[in-house]
This record gives sequence, C-alpha cells and structure tokens, in this order.
Amino acid sequence: MSVNYAAGLTPYANKGVCGLPEHFDSPEELKAKVETLAQLIKESQYLVVHSGAGISTSAGIPDFRGPKGVWTLEEKGESPHFDTTFEDARPSLTHMALLGLQRAGYLKYLISQNVDGLHVRSGFPRDLLSELHGNMFVEECEKCGRQYVREKVIGVMGLKPTGRYCEVVRSRGLRACRGKLISTILDWEDALPDRDLNKADDASRRADLALTLGTSLQIKPSGDLPLLTKRKGGKLVIVNLQSTKHDKHAHLRMHGYVDDVMKQLMELLGLEIPKWDGPTVCESSTATTETTADVKPPPGVTAKEKVEKNFVKEERKRGASQLTDDGSVKEETVSVKRERADLPLEINEEK
Ligand SMILES: [Zn+2]
Repeated sequence: MSVNYAAGLTPYANKGVCGLPEHFDSPEELKAKVETLAQLIKESQYLVVHSGAGISTSAGIPDFRGPKGVWTLEEKGESPHFDTTFEDARPSLTHMALLGLQRAGYLKYLISQNVDGLHVRSGFPRDLLSELHGNMFVEECEKCGRQYVREKVIGVMGLKPTGRYCEVVRSRGLRACRGKLISTILDWEDALPDRDLNKADDASRRADLALTLGTSLQIKPSGDLPLLTKRKGGKLVIVNLQSTKHDKHAHLRMHGYVDDVMKQLMELLGLEIPKWDGPTVCESSTATTETTADVKPPPGVTAKEKVEKNFVKEERKRGASQLTDDGSVKEETVSVKRERADLPLEINEEK
C-alpha cells in the first residue's frame, strides 16, 4: 500500500534553499577537524546534538534539500527515491554512535528535526530527546497527552485523529481515558510540541557545545536553537555537506559524510558504537521498567523497553520562546509556529 502524505499537507511555497552544491574536505583536513571535535567534546560539560535529515540518507531515507532531496526534486517536478520503508529502515552508524556518546556520558541531550523515528528505534532514551517535528511511529492522546510508540508508521499526519483511542486507565481503575489519538507529525504552520520545544530550548541554553549533524539549519525555530548555545558563550560545530544558514557562527565547520565523521570520532574517543539488534524503545535514561524496578542499571546504561511501552507526556506548557532572525529570543504567550514542515511526500509500504 502506498501512502501519499503530500495529500495531507496544505500547499506551502517557501521550502527554503534547495539543491546547493556539496563540499568535501580532503581526508587529511577532515581528520584534523575530527581531532579538534574530539578535543572539544572531551572538554565539554554539556554537549547537545542537533540532527537533521542528512543523518538518515545512509539509512535509505531521502533528505529534503540535498541534490536528491524531496524538495529539491519537487522543484524539478520529480519524485524522491526511497530505498526502504520507514519500518524497514535501520539506524545509521551516526544514530548508533549518538547512542554510544550518550551512554558514555558525553552527549547530554539530542534535538532532532527528523520524523523517521530512527533515534527512538535505535534505543536512544526518549527523556533526553526532543523530536520537534513529530515521529511517524508515535501517536498521542489529545486528552491526557500520553504517547504511544507503535511498531508501524501511524499513516496519518498533520496532528489529525488516527482512529484509535487512549487506553490509559486512571489509577482508581474505573474507566479508561478514551481520548482521541492524534498523529504527532506536523503540517505546515502547526505549533511545535510544547514539551519537546521547551526541553530543547533549555538544553540549548545550558549547553557549552552544540554539534549539528546533517541539517542546513533553515527551519525555524529548530535551526536557530544552536545559536542559543553560542549566545551563552558555548561553541558551535557544524557537520554538513552543503552550506548552512549559520556557517558564519560556527567555531568549526566540517564538510564530510556524518557517518565518516562519527566513525572517526568514536575511534578517537575510544568508544564502541553499539550494535543494533532491532527496534527498541528506551523511555528513560535512568529509570528501569516497572517489571524490573528492583534492578537499577549502572550509570550510563539505559533501560531497554519494548516498542509498545507507553509514555506519559508531561503537562503541556504554554509560553514557548520564539527565536527571531538574529538569534535573539522573544517570549510568546502562544505556542510557537514553525514555518514549514519537512515531510517525505510519499512512502511505499509494499515490501
Ligand atoms: Zn488519554
């Protein structure tokens, strides 16, 4: 079955700059830059990584503004090519290296614009992850906020009802919530999820090192969050083949494949890249599951939970911050709207 997600999107003209040429540092140059990055990471107290579609291209999922990106091709009247389905996609080396960095204590928080669900399915702890544009595998109760991570893509987008209902049973056990479940995938101009945006904003301000991987940083407010780190005196490192919107703010600018950079980086840090053994959802970086509550994992080791394990969303807060063009922040009393959604046009679920 082919699911056309474009049909669920309202038309939107401004999709940013697409199809810019890609640059490659020479192998020697890239190696020297990775050494600098490793040193910065060792010296950092609070590393935040910002990931974009460029980290999933090696998993077979097209990006948006690269030479073969969804929007680049759309401008030419062509369709993107998917090498996989979302369900079959395996986390890339970069996804797994990020999990390794988190377990080793270097990576404190991860902010992603990706909707492909690969960070969650890699086992990255959800309490240390903001998915600012939603997740293809996650639906949410519009009444109580509980999120359900599914094994298959939800198939609905634009925060619309999925046809399922919340099964949360209140503590007295009398009746289930029965709220409507909705997609977490944003359409153009939908508000970003408050909890994820607030946590991303806090982490970006707290960070002394921001590392961006595979994003052109054109989407607001997500792409502007790394500037918060810089404004607080932190450093910004950008890894992307194409030029990005904030290259001029970068302490270090690396033009190479993210998988190459992460592989070399993990070697320099003396860290193993965890092996992936199928989709795994980890809700918390510290807590154990209810069934193993008496066995606390050692520091840095995450508790793995099954895919269908539910997640109770924290109370939504209003008054999120919005970044202005120059990176300054203005406080808003309404939730932030983002300018555009980065969504694949179509996925083919046929095997
Ligand atoms: Zn509910």
